[in-house]
Amino acid sequence: MIITANGGFGLKKDILSYEFENLCDYFESIGEKKFRAKQVYEWLHSKKVKNFDEMSNISLSLRTKLSEEFCINGIKIVKKLESSMDNTVKYLYELSDGNHIETVLMDYKHGNSLCISTQVGCKMGCKFCASTIAGFKRNLLPSEMLQQIYTTEEDSGRHVDSIVLMGIGEPLDNYDNVIAFLKMLSDKDGRNMSLRHVSLSTCGLVDRIYDLSEYKFGLTLSISLHAVNDKKRSEIMPVNNKYSISELLKACRYYIEKTGRRISFEYAVIHGVNDTAEDACGLIGLLKGINCHVNLIPVNEIKERDFKADRKALAEFSAMLEKGGLNVTTRRTLGTDINAACGQLRREYEI
Ligand code: SAH
Repeated sequence: MIITANGGFGLKKDILSYEFENLCDYFESIGEKKFRAKQVYEWLHSKKVKNFDEMSNISLSLRTKLSEEFCINGIKIVKKLESSMDNTVKYLYELSDGNHIETVLMDYKHGNSLCISTQVGCKMGCKFCASTIAGFKRNLLPSEMLQQIYTTEEDSGRHVDSIVLMGIGEPLDNYDNVIAFLKMLSDKDGRNMSLRHVSLSTCGLVDRIYDLSEYKFGLTLSISLHAVNDKKRSEIMPVNNKYSISELLKACRYYIEKTGRRISFEYAVIHGVNDTAEDACGLIGLLKGINCHVNLIPVNEIKERDFKADRKALAEFSAMLEKGGLNVTTRRTLGTDINAACGQLRREYEI
């Protein structure tokens, strides 16, 4: 495995994207003992050093060799917005090649939750989403997903208790790097976070949901549903032209059966588009018998689109779902004063 990153030092191999086994293989290939891999992995992911010189139990000759071959890929804060209403902090980060992504730190009752990006831009084209308007640039490396956690923790002094993959990008469209990231995040010699504290949100790449099921990761899978029939869903989510709602729900049932985890369905409530009584009945019918939870999100109004939120209609919609036996919550909107919805800050910055 060779992943390269600019790292600010020209193109070198990106050591922070190496899973522990890959690092072991590397050290073996250069005739070093396996325990060196553990030491270096700890320096990178537990002590989070920024250069090889800080690895004090590694010989100077090995440190020199590592720094010639590898970089420690970092990300830079270019903008930081702190909400005056709650403890939400939104970061605009610059990657080593000059691209920008967003990361949002939120304060929930159960602890700090970090919303991270998985791609620069997005190619999924959901009509209500700001992240996709300027299109797709590239996938994030595992190191760049990890650095959103490490750098945010260092800057804010706050411990991140849970992660949601709900920032810019479609995580299952960057499948291999996201899988590597999840393995590294939960590695006991690294950040050591239980994947029970991770939610992965997808617009519904069905083939990848089947693949993900096999890992039995214990994470919460969130499905962005947003509409209850194919016509409506295809209008607002082009991915539905490839995978229909029934194919998507079949994959969800498989996921639940394989992992024993319930699924969370995300539903951005857009007034006059998907919040009628008929939509509520449709949703109840679709999700009947599926071990799941429905998370209603008042649509975040973005200036490029004419979608509106209506709190009263949302409350009525929620009540209908509950009456129909669904397990429903409405997501608290945090950081509205700092545009915390995904993709909005990066868009403002890049225009
Ligand atoms: N690509 C992934 C994750 C990123 S978006 C996905 O589609 O799930 C995270 C969540 O925010 C998704 O449920 C997405 O549909 C939703 N979302 C995007 N823009 C929104 C907006 N303007 N208002 C409300 N929810 C939005």
